[in-house]
Amino acid sequence: MLAIKTTETIQNESIFGQLTTLEHEQLLVCQDKDTGLKALIGVHNTVLGPALGGTRLWSYASEEAAIRDVLRLSRGMTFKNALAGLNFGGGKAVLIGDPKLKTEAYLRRFGRFIESLGGRYVTAEDVNMKTADMEYIALETRHVTGLPKNKGGAGDPSPVTAFGVYMGMKAAAKKAYGSDSLAGKKIGVQGVGQVGKYLINYLVKEGASLYITDIDHEKLQEIAAGTGATVLGNEEIYDHQMDIYSPCALGGTLNDHTIERLTCQVIAGGANNQLEDENKHGKMLLERGITYAPDFLINAGGVINVGAEYYGEYEEKTVFAQTEKIYDTCLSILTAAEHQQIPAQEAAIQAAKARIEAIGRIKLAY
Ligand code: NAD
Repeated sequence: MLAIKTTETIQNESIFGQLTTLEHEQLLVCQDKDTGLKALIGVHNTVLGPALGGTRLWSYASEEAAIRDVLRLSRGMTFKNALAGLNFGGGKAVLIGDPKLKTEAYLRRFGRFIESLGGRYVTAEDVNMKTADMEYIALETRHVTGLPKNKGGAGDPSPVTAFGVYMGMKAAAKKAYGSDSLAGKKIGVQGVGQVGKYLINYLVKEGASLYITDIDHEKLQEIAAGTGATVLGNEEIYDHQMDIYSPCALGGTLNDHTIERLTCQVIAGGANNQLEDENKHGKMLLERGITYAPDFLINAGGVINVGAEYYGEYEEKTVFAQTEKIYDTCLSILTAAEHQQIPAQEAAIQAAKARIEAIGRIKLAY
């Protein structure tokens, strides 16, 4: 049972050991010499439906790191999709290598591997993968979503993700402060990329006092000039006095080195896998009295968007309405965590598993 194992312990296990501990159904290892493709497709759980989750292209330091990433990310998708009320299971793919490898043949070869799973896995974009890449994949498989608008798709899901993060942040503020107003709150946004920049628009409209950081200085200055936000250094974001910290860059920023430096009462952001070790660091946040809105719960807007596109029932209004529900779900999970005195991450996983088990049981009947 994962609850008693730390990330470090899991990492040291064999591949089957990791699949067993994290409760995966399948891990597909794919290679193609001609195109240089090295791909891993993780299918975590398909009880609710096909495993949906994006493809990440990254120069991993080792094969072990790539395996760890695909397993963690696909498991997170199971919980994300379940809590968002979607009829999708959880999956994710990682492509190992330099983004320069991305050619038509490379992407189409990858598409053929996805097709070989017969619909058990549905892909979309993630880090270093764009809507245009999905077009090539779509030439080889139907099991792809997140296509550009001019190809009948729903386009970039980031604005919807940002709206969901905003809803989750308001719910967490309600829990921590008794009011969901963000007016006057000092909010630090780490990463002003696609999700961060749309989130900032909502926060500016509400009258929050904004602090931003990014490794891309040009982007940072541009956003600061447009919003009046105060720019912080990459490390300064952890030490600066603020009410809410919003990680919107990469995962793992809640760890042994950062948690004790944070002065905030609330953490709510869009990045995946914010807790470096979900058990240890989830507990540390609880002990420090910080209200943490679990990432997979509040960043589900994007998958709600691509999920609607996949089922051919895309309507922007409906997608935003479904994403707005993240507010209520987040509040109820934070309340459950408070009653049980457990980390919010654990309460969110419990709720996701409860839905999967309940729906799994009804499927037993013919
Ligand atoms: P993005 O690449 O557009 O933006 C990420 C930003 O973070 C970039 O501006 C980058 O320069 C910055 N960054 C990277 N490392 C940093 C560091 N150490 N310190 C400060 N800034 C740093 O990506 P995105 O689409 O905005 O996604 C952001 C996060 O949200 C990712 O973790 C992604 O997996 C997650 N997410 C995104 C979506 C979506 O719809 N785009 C959906 C769910 C989850």
